Amino acid sequence: RSTILKVNDVTKEYQGKLLFEHVNIEIGVGEHVALFGKNGVGKTTLLQGLLGKEEMDGGTIQRMLPLHEWGTLDQQLELETSVQTREFVQSGLKAWFAAKQRVEHIQELMQQESKNQTDAEDLFEQYEDAYAKFETMGGYESEVSMDTCMQRVRLDPAVWNQPYAELSGGQKTKAQLARILVGEPQFLLLDEPTNHLDAETLEWLEEWVASYAGTVLMVSHDRAFLDRVADAIIELTPQGTTRYTGGYTDYRRQKDIELQTQAALYKKQEQEKEQLLEVVRRYQQWFNTAERKAGTQTEVKITKSYYKARAMKNITRYHAKQKELERLEQNRVDKPREDTKIHVQFDASSLVSNTLLRMENVSFAYPSSTLLLEQVQLQVDRNHRIAVIGPNGAGKSTLLKLMIGELEPSLGSVKHHPQLRIGYFSQELENLDESGSILDSLLDLPNMTQTYARTILGCFLFSRDDVFKQIKDLSMGERCRVAFIKLYFSDAQMLVLDEPTNYLDIVTREKIEEAFREYPGAIVMVSHDRYLVSQLANRIVEIEKGHVRVFNGSYPEFTGYKKRLLEPQGKREDADRLQ
Ligand code: ATP
Ligand code: ATP
Repeated sequence: RSTILKVNDVTKEYQGKLLFEHVNIEIGVGEHVALFGKNGVGKTTLLQGLLGKEEMDGGTIQRMLPLHEWGTLDQQLELETSVQTREFVQSGLKAWFAAKQRVEHIQELMQQESKNQTDAEDLFEQYEDAYAKFETMGGYESEVSMDTCMQRVRLDPAVWNQPYAELSGGQKTKAQLARILVGEPQFLLLDEPTNHLDAETLEWLEEWVASYAGTVLMVSHDRAFLDRVADAIIELTPQGTTRYTGGYTDYRRQKDIELQTQAALYKKQEQEKEQLLEVVRRYQQWFNTAERKAGTQTEVKITKSYYKARAMKNITRYHAKQKELERLEQNRVDKPREDTKIHVQFDASSLVSNTLLRMENVSFAYPSSTLLLEQVQLQVDRNHRIAVIGPNGAGKSTLLKLMIGELEPSLGSVKHHPQLRIGYFSQELENLDESGSILDSLLDLPNMTQTYARTILGCFLFSRDDVFKQIKDLSMGERCRVAFIKLYFSDAQMLVLDEPTNYLDIVTREKIEEAFREYPGAIVMVSHDRYLVSQLANRIVEIEKGHVRVFNGSYPEFTGYKKRLLEPQGKREDADRLQ
């Protein structure tokens, strides 16, 4: 199998601090490889390096396929707000799109009046040329196949002519995927492609990537996805890369063996060290007493020369033991990491009455758009853990924005308890203050002390050095983690969270699931993470084609209920589970 990308001993630093070193990656044509690692380890930075957008500090990157032939899916794609979704997708076929733009540009010029005769003729000639060129590339007929690409990723035709910037999170990911399909690249770079996607599209993506003949390098924290599509996992750590064959489960198995070996080596090393230290201590003691005795010469039997001879011997042995200690220290095996439990101090008295929020007959439409939500009745109590589910673009984020008062209902009302404090986590993280360090950011919270802040950050997997990192420099996953911690400890009695676990690595996801279980207030959350929803929710709000259904029960109960709905007598039995 020939190589399509080769990365040789690449290093990256920020402000003199090493981010990673010894990065060695070799990818063969047609391989599907995942780059895997903790939040903030530098995966996005490395991908930017591969794309030539970020300078690396050492090593070489060999690309056998020119960069303009790569297809990419980017975590934080910023676009001009006016770009239409359809055009955005079409721009995946670069030459065709440039030809089309040229035709349309000349057309516009021709429509402008006050042209003299020769100019007009000139323009027309240019138009003929441009159009002929566009025709040879397929012309407007190609648009049909591009529309098919948008259908394949299940992008709702209602948004094809909408500006890309107005799309929902999942719709944006879909538009980027459609753009990749249009360009048919031979090499794909996908940064967290499963984020925001609903179940149906996720399934499509899994199948598509798995059967894709070209080469794929992807970053993902999605365990099931990695299992289905990855041939190999390359783990990135600050010390370098390691390649594991297979998907996540295979990686995990090999990793567990490594960890057990590490734990055993660590234990043996500590015992050896303890023994050596003991011997060294004894020699030191001997030197001390010997010196005293030799100095005072109180013991007649023992002469100075006797001490001298023994001391020489002991000094040699002492040095040998110290050398051994040094060697042990150099080949040191690190202690396997242990988990710190989250300790939360909540002031329960700050919780107001039982019912926190009530939505009555709420309907909503965006300006000059059709009705998105119809007649929503929803109550949030203190002990509720509500999961809002539904396909991409159904209106889940919109429902949350109505709850927190960022949007006003077109009809009906949203009533809050007068003392209610809501903590809101949005997909864009716009509430996260960019200035200062992680620690500063936590110290802004009410009743926060240095010690408590550091304990919290430790629990949420920020190391001692990390806490001084500037928010503006953080990776997406680290930002999300900080935003979440701030909300969690902000004294809010109700958390409203829009896809809080996107971008988070697996260990952090588990931490956050634990934090949710401890939380004494209400939680309303949009999530496509079925595992999280099953673990946490005691109420399900499903939005589908404008209709909002509220179910009193867990996610597994809800899916069971939906299955029974399809059976003849199911409806009556479950009637009381709907609010
Ligand atoms: P996802 O799962 O993809 O995040 P969602 O269910 O959260 O989707 P919303 O973000 O609520 O969906 O969007 C619902 C619909 O409203 C989408 O079709 C979207 O294109 C449209 N929409 C969202 N914001 C605006 C806006 N500011 N102006 C016009 N339309 C909008
Ligand atoms: P995630 O899984 O959270 O997306 P990642 O592995 O993709 O993380 P990167 O986005 O590559 O991580 O960031 C790696 C680290 O580099 C982060 O900890 C960040 O703090 C640091 N970093 C990024 N840009 C800068 C900068 N300009 N100055 C200093 N540090 C930076």
